[in-house]
Amino acid sequence: MSANPMPADRLSSVDEQVDRILESIQPLDPYDQPLLEALNLPVCERIVAPMDLPSFENSAMDGYAVYVDDVASASPDSPVHLPVVGEMAAGQTTMMALSPGTTVRIMTGAPVPEGADAIVPVEWTDAGVAQVRITRAPRPGEHVRRAGEDVRTGDLLLEDGTILGPRQLGLLASVGRSQVRSRPRPRVVVMSTGAELREPGTTLGHDSIYDANSYMLAAAARSTGAIAYRVGIVSDDPREFEDALGDQLVRADLVVTSGGVSKGAYDVVKEVLSEFGTVSFGEVAMQPGKPQGFGFVGDDATPILTLPGNPVSSYVSFEVFAVPAIRRMMGRLPYRRPTVRAMCSTPFSSAPARQQYVRARFTIDPMGAHVTPVGGHGSHLMGDLSEANALIVVPADTTAVQGGDQVDVLVLDRDF
Ligand code: AMP
Ligand code: MG
Repeated sequence: MSANPMPADRLSSVDEQVDRILESIQPLDPYDQPLLEALNLPVCERIVAPMDLPSFENSAMDGYAVYVDDVASASPDSPVHLPVVGEMAAGQTTMMALSPGTTVRIMTGAPVPEGADAIVPVEWTDAGVAQVRITRAPRPGEHVRRAGEDVRTGDLLLEDGTILGPRQLGLLASVGRSQVRSRPRPRVVVMSTGAELREPGTTLGHDSIYDANSYMLAAAARSTGAIAYRVGIVSDDPREFEDALGDQLVRADLVVTSGGVSKGAYDVVKEVLSEFGTVSFGEVAMQPGKPQGFGFVGDDATPILTLPGNPVSSYVSFEVFAVPAIRRMMGRLPYRRPTVRAMCSTPFSSAPARQQYVRARFTIDPMGAHVTPVGGHGSHLMGDLSEANALIVVPADTTAVQGGDQVDVLVLDRDF
């Protein structure tokens, strides 16, 4: 597989780069998966009910199964007394028939004895065991769940493409399905590169920093619905990076790297992958996140996104490029997070000729949706990034936003 190369001579727009990625990444092949594995994935079949729900007539209450005619006159002033000739619990397999003039104690979900046409809830009785005193008459069919009243064999349960949430999975289990056809979660391998990186939990030298990106990006991949494999830190040695990448490809549907794609010396990702010729490195007219790479590596042509190392750039790049790629693999529409409109509360300026993603706090109150930029511009500002719950998207040709302007916002951490 090959991607249309990014132009080397001019910056791509964000949309061009996203389109390039979406065009060359294919949805993964669907297969039958255990129900829980398919949570939040689209179903890849049209599901028709193989059985009725309920599948047999059963009681909606704990109480007494009766012939309505036997208890029609029951009232607090003139209760009806019936002999209790048996008991039916949920899960009981032996079917009973009820003789007129008698009753059977019955629990919720138990099959209604043959002949009985209503259930008297225990609350309308003295809860008698050998004989019961009934003070209120049920209507015919009252508190009886009829077979097929919920779902009939042959009913359409789920249209192809429906997202399998908790209720849909519950429905499938109700009709006896243990598996459902859906695309698998993409396995996303996340690698951080940088000789200066150290694993959190270890001691830091004065010249080193903790590896934040592999945790942040692996978490973002998981939040998007992928299976994330966080690889330990890879240094800036080309051989080491190439070996580590080669080792990971067997378990990757997508590789995401951070760092090593700028113009400096020791930019290991760019150095190694440029040689393969299947990954193109270009610049995207965005801020943060200008240096971007995308292509395919290894025998299986595994897609790879190489994100810049600055944490904020890395995060924004993941949101803008990796999230649609992962969703496309799962067949989950829409691929791109939709923007919402909000009123910007404070003015700010924006770099010319770059689509800017401004960290912000988004709120909704009775007056509408509001957004306020948080923190500075620096791509290293993790404290500000964690305070933000949204990104204001400022188009490339906009250089200033006034307080009160309506802006487009990506609201993060939200299902879509
Ligand atoms: P690079 O893209 O490799 O040139 O890195 C740009 C900046 O981001 C440098 O200051 C790096 O130290 C920093 N950086 C790179 N990778 C990470 C990471 N995994 N976690 C935190 N900071 C990083
Ligand atoms: Mg680096």
